[in-house]
Amino acid sequence: MSFFAAFVKGKCPQCREGNVFTHKGTNLKKFREMNDNCPSCQVKFESEPGFFWGAMYFSYVYSVASFIIIGFFFFTYSDDVNLSWYISSVIAFTLMTSTLSFRLSRLLMMYIAAPYRKFKGNYLGKR
Ligand SMILES: [Zn+2]
Repeated sequence: MSFFAAFVKGKCPQCREGNVFTHKGTNLKKFREMNDNCPSCQVKFESEPGFFWGAMYFSYVYSVASFIIIGFFFFTYSDDVNLSWYISSVIAFTLMTSTLSFRLSRLLMMYIAAPYRKFKGNYLGKR
């Protein structure tokens, strides 16, 4: 499985086989539950205490980028921008995509911000 496909499907960064999350992102009650270890290669996802605190930075970047993009569309395609509509749109978008933001942030944290966790498909005999 390619890097991008494994990332989009929420697979383990090390073996690209096991699922990181236990449930689908559409399950609003359990979307944030993760496996402690990879079901396939047994690597521990939270490699050190507080590892996923760093995911907040990715989540922050996602939120600010969405505010800017929504603002760009509001201020580009509207002559008379209603500030309450802009704020309502930003809040609605943030709430609607919060599960995506959560998962994306944690996956980015594991895939990008943990350089010691490389793909080891060759060592496991899988590709
Ligand atoms: Zn794995």
